[in-house]
Amino acid sequence: MAAVDFEESPEVREVAVKIINQHHPHLQDAADLIGFYFRFGASDWAGKAKKCTAFERHATGYMLFVFINAEDWKHLNPEKRNALVDHELCHFMRTSHRKYDEELQKWTEEWEPADQPDNWTIRDHDVEEFSQVIQRHGLWDVGIEQFARAVRNAPYQKDLFEDERQIRTI
Ligand SMILES: [Zn+2]
Repeated sequence: MAAVDFEESPEVREVAVKIINQHHPHLQDAADLIGFYFRFGASDWAGKAKKCTAFERHATGYMLFVFINAEDWKHLNPEKRNALVDHELCHFMRTSHRKYDEELQKWTEEWEPADQPDNWTIRDHDVEEFSQVIQRHGLWDVGIEQFARAVRNAPYQKDLFEDERQIRTI
């Protein structure tokens, strides 16, 4: 079996930067602090988001990592690649505080400095549930209800991960 290997991916970064500019305002000044890597070798996940350890920060200069399974990436169309990268970016949370903007006369959210590790955390998925439990008990939890609403309002209902190939993100 081939050894596991990593390689920085400008291709994944390019996809990520577009998504960041559209949907992740808290990452806009932090894209350079995220390392995007292909992972070669078998794994049971397609993508993974991680906060760097102190040593990883020292060794790479990054604050956060996104790992993409290189084999899965090859088989995904652009839409699915976007969804996978967006998913991983959603894991990154940054502390902020509310600030009153005198000019706009309203409260705005101000992000804490991107280069401070303590300002970053990894966020869990909105929903952690078995499909069997939803089949048997319906939308029994507020989080699942919100999730179901998002599914109903999604721009297209086709299954993003309908491939025979099972994509799992963590
Ligand atoms: Zn995830």
